[in-house]
Amino acid sequence: MNKPATGDKAQPHSAAQVTNFIRNIIEADLAQGKNAARTWSGKPGPAAVQAPAPPDPAKIRTRFPPEPNGYLHYGHAKSICLNFGAALQYDGRCHMRFDDTNPVTEDTEYVDSILDAVKWLGFNWRENLYYASDYFDTLYDFAEAFIQHDLAYVDSLSADEMREYRGTLTEAGKSSPYRDRSRNENLALFRRMKAGEFPDGAHVLRLKIDMSSPNINLRDPVIYRIRHAHHHRTGGKWCVYPMYDYTHCISDALENITHSLCTLEFEDHRPLYDWVLQKLASFGLLAYPLPQQYEFARLNLSYVVLSKRKLIQLVEEKHVDGWDDPRMPTLVGARRRGFMPEGFRLFADRIGVSKSDSWIDMSVLEDCMRETLNETAPRRMAVLDPVKLIVDNIQADGEENCEAPNHPQKPEWGKRAMPFSRELWIEREDFMEIPSKGYFRLFPGSQVRLRFGFVVKCTGAEKDAAGNITAVHCEVMPDSKSGTPGADAYKVKGNIHWVSARHAYKADVRLYDRLFAVPHPGAERDFLLDMNPDSKKLVHAWCEPALRDAKPEERFQFERHGYFCADRSDSKPGAPVFNRTVTLRDSWGKPST
Ligand code: ATP
Ligand code: MG
Repeated sequence: MNKPATGDKAQPHSAAQVTNFIRNIIEADLAQGKNAARTWSGKPGPAAVQAPAPPDPAKIRTRFPPEPNGYLHYGHAKSICLNFGAALQYDGRCHMRFDDTNPVTEDTEYVDSILDAVKWLGFNWRENLYYASDYFDTLYDFAEAFIQHDLAYVDSLSADEMREYRGTLTEAGKSSPYRDRSRNENLALFRRMKAGEFPDGAHVLRLKIDMSSPNINLRDPVIYRIRHAHHHRTGGKWCVYPMYDYTHCISDALENITHSLCTLEFEDHRPLYDWVLQKLASFGLLAYPLPQQYEFARLNLSYVVLSKRKLIQLVEEKHVDGWDDPRMPTLVGARRRGFMPEGFRLFADRIGVSKSDSWIDMSVLEDCMRETLNETAPRRMAVLDPVKLIVDNIQADGEENCEAPNHPQKPEWGKRAMPFSRELWIEREDFMEIPSKGYFRLFPGSQVRLRFGFVVKCTGAEKDAAGNITAVHCEVMPDSKSGTPGADAYKVKGNIHWVSARHAYKADVRLYDRLFAVPHPGAERDFLLDMNPDSKKLVHAWCEPALRDAKPEERFQFERHGYFCADRSDSKPGAPVFNRTVTLRDSWGKPST
């Protein structure tokens, strides 16, 4: 009898097993030597007309092509990890390219923040930093070549008329009355457009493909429009600007890109991508092999919104404190919150790359951050909701030096001093006057260990007129100090954190939580109504003395609470402010205990 296949059992999760169909494509291409004939002169340009160049030292070339019109978000991180990750894995290069064809919405502020974010994620484009606007001359020359080959014409319909002529998904389009303009007339008009003789919208340049194509993208797409606008890089040089679809494929070809990876909404644009490049190659302006576009599913993440329009609305209407608000799903926000680049890379590996849209739960990203933070964040103690614990058998000026390890699994990280004195801060919830069943912390008569300190016995508490606990009293067992031979004799079930009141540092701590309270914000009503009202709480915490010296962006585990990061904008030397990055465990959707 055959033994049951062991493969029937669910396999443990590991990055290598996650589907990434892009890797399979690249491996097949490499095995076939598909791109072996490429040459690379070190700078992008029309390969066919350049002097003979040596073989491209890069086995593959990918690119990350943001438009500098906003801040990068978690979704972009997926694309960055995919493109730069593939280049790293297959001995290739990933180009950083700004798709800056729309002068009106773009800005150098965005360019800088995008470059920062990619670097922060841990990737390096080396010398390959490009701007589509660097190719405006070539793009313009290629457009004239399309006119020369009678494959482009100047159209003078209004935008509304053009929409009408384009037809619908079920109805063929019809030809513009200007479609049959002569080559010379087109050339003359296009040059006059470039020379600034016409106002915005007077004319456009369109490819002459097929007005009855079932694919609307092939119904004579517009490739140039008039925009009298200042461009963040080319200034006032141009008043005609190329359209995205036309620019993108040519930029890929000029840069020798082998695998042009984009999100699924571009699938219907691929025939146009191929059409433009094949025609230019047939004119002798581009060399084979041509780049190839592949589409993958974009990241959809629960409990956030990733649409640029909605992110802008959150900032402009001040529902958050700016683009780098730690609750924003932007990479500047993630950084400020304390999320780690390694966590994003782990996340990208873990979710893989597929060809069908799906939702990823926020807890997957949070778990990736917990895992990377657990490895890298030193442990500290901080009391977020403090109440005094008074050790009555210690003198007012008494002090004991305790030591706590910086990481429980990494003895090589050493220990730090935790002074112990008569008055301590503990969490309010670590005392109960009348304990509930299974409560092992402080209540009159109970014994607990003060973590890395001593065992104390609770003797009672003080209350104000309203019945609120104002101080808890206890007695220390002097022979119970952690790490001493006597400590083991004490068997206690409760183990709580504390800081010495006299030595503590009082810090502003922001307790951040998810920005939206429901998995799919906006699915049933205006997305703003789905915001989590408790996504930010400010508390004044008592921190152990070592935290006073935290540097901006230093990350810690506050024991029993979660991971925290010293804010990179609001911390001052000797006075850090902390942001909660993520709690220790996922408590979303679970009943509170
Ligand atoms: P726009 O609507 O302005 O084009 P965009 O989100 O597509 O917005 P781009 O700057 O064009 O922003 O994006 C740069 C790259 O990031 C593109 O290749 C795009 O496909 C990819 N990208 C954008 N959003 C996601 C996402 N949610 N998941 C994966 N990749 C994404
Ligand atoms: Mg885009």
